[in-house]
Amino acid sequence: METTRPRPAVESSRLDASPKRLLIGGDWVPARSGQTFPSINPSTGEVIGELAEGGAADADAAVIAARRAFEGPWSRFTPQQRQNVLLQLADIVEANIDELRLLDVLDMGAPIRRTRRSNRVVETLRYFAGWTTKIHGETVPNSVPGHFSYTVKEPVGVCANIVAWNGPLGAAVSKIAPVLATGCTVILKPAEEASLTAIRLGELIQELDLPPGVVNIVTGYGHTAGAALTEHRDVDKVHFTGSTATGQRIVRASAGNLKRLSLELGGKSPDIIFADADIEAAATGAAMSVFANSGQVCYAGTRVFVERPVYDEVVARMSQIAESLVVGNSLDEATDIGPVVSQAQLDRVTGYLRAGAEEGARTVAGGSRREDGDLAAGYFVAPTVFADVEDDMRIAREEIFGPIAAVLPFDTVEEVTARANRSEFGLGGGVWTRDIGRAHGVAAALKTGMVWVNGYGVGDPAMPHGGVKMSGWGREYSIHGLDEYLDVKSVWIRTDI
Ligand code: NDP
Repeated sequence: METTRPRPAVESSRLDASPKRLLIGGDWVPARSGQTFPSINPSTGEVIGELAEGGAADADAAVIAARRAFEGPWSRFTPQQRQNVLLQLADIVEANIDELRLLDVLDMGAPIRRTRRSNRVVETLRYFAGWTTKIHGETVPNSVPGHFSYTVKEPVGVCANIVAWNGPLGAAVSKIAPVLATGCTVILKPAEEASLTAIRLGELIQELDLPPGVVNIVTGYGHTAGAALTEHRDVDKVHFTGSTATGQRIVRASAGNLKRLSLELGGKSPDIIFADADIEAAATGAAMSVFANSGQVCYAGTRVFVERPVYDEVVARMSQIAESLVVGNSLDEATDIGPVVSQAQLDRVTGYLRAGAEEGARTVAGGSRREDGDLAAGYFVAPTVFADVEDDMRIAREEIFGPIAAVLPFDTVEEVTARANRSEFGLGGGVWTRDIGRAHGVAAALKTGMVWVNGYGVGDPAMPHGGVKMSGWGREYSIHGLDEYLDVKSVWIRTDI
């Protein structure tokens, strides 16, 4: 369905024709190769910016700048000063939030109304600002005669933080806030598909009273700029958000100097609806967990297990929701579902639509690309519900990262938890039931990093985010996310001489 509502004026300094640069050591510089690459609006297929194509030499320069900053004046910033930096950044981001959101809309295709739903990035900066003054070690009673011992927490050092494109602003902020809180330095590598928000964020960071080189931004391709950072001998840590396949490559690349790694990877999360649940809430929650952001959400509950007595009803409700959602240009206020991020992602997602049909799943809603009217120029996919899905079908096993729900019937709680856990991934999981005992039991049984009961996908900077198995290592946000950026040093003092 198309909409005739007016679109907001597109005003941003980042959308001029000049090629964007790399932020290295406090200066905006072109890539050493002089190469650039285009950024494309997935709603229209139009080029909206040219980005510097950073390579290995630029990555190296950024690491040198980050090392110098780490060992220089930044290391002498007090916790209170780092707190002030984060609070100032929160204020600046808040003052510029409309423009930052607009860049996500244009560059990645996030529906504009959806981008306004939360103030999470500002909250994240303020949350980590609070931690700066609360990072401490412990005095530890030991049993060695004549010795006093204590621990100290120290920043890990130079971090290469590499992110995916599915939430550019949130990803960039979540990879910078703990860096500033702990006194580390960073080279941020945004995704090639959506780098404009990170560049604008870099400009705003330049307004802070921060030594050059604390935050560096290198745009470019993963196999060149990204790989150079992960292999670099002077990078102490990599915090990566992206696919499991790239995560595995990073594990191998980082072996040279045994970097600390935090990996936020893919998922194929189960969302389990019992017959006693509030079926309307469950069907809506399950549907939107898959369709929101065009399904480009790592913890999307894409395997929807439904207890057999309510299976047909849930399938029908989810299909109704899929068909009622407005698919359109991300700038339109009426749009619920924007495009997927790129032609490559469109090809991937439509490939899974074909695979689902070929393997015998029943297409109940959607099932194809949307090419009607204005949509033909962009990368739109109809929200899709597949029913009668079986566990071994590709659409039930592999991460699609598109608006495709696979709905599977089940009969018993033991059966469904076993099937839910039969996945290489372990990121999110949902349980819908009015039985509190069963809710706790299934939450405990799911082998995932996160579980939601009678809801799906809510988050907060104070709660850890991350997965188990092939969904990753470590946690983001919360005190656990902070600890990913800290080393613990043990100090022993002889007291008997
Ligand atoms: P990719 O793994 O393809 O890319 C992620 C980032 O890694 C990009 O910046 C990419 O650069 C870079 N990269 C690619 N190859 C290398 C390499 N060899 N060395 C270093 N960096 C590299 O993921 P997608 O962009 O396709 O993102 C989607 C994936 O991200 C999904 O699997 C999704 O589940 C996951 N994800 C996980 C989240 C979580 O918190 N668990 C949150 C969000 C997404 P380039 O852009 O040039 O390709």
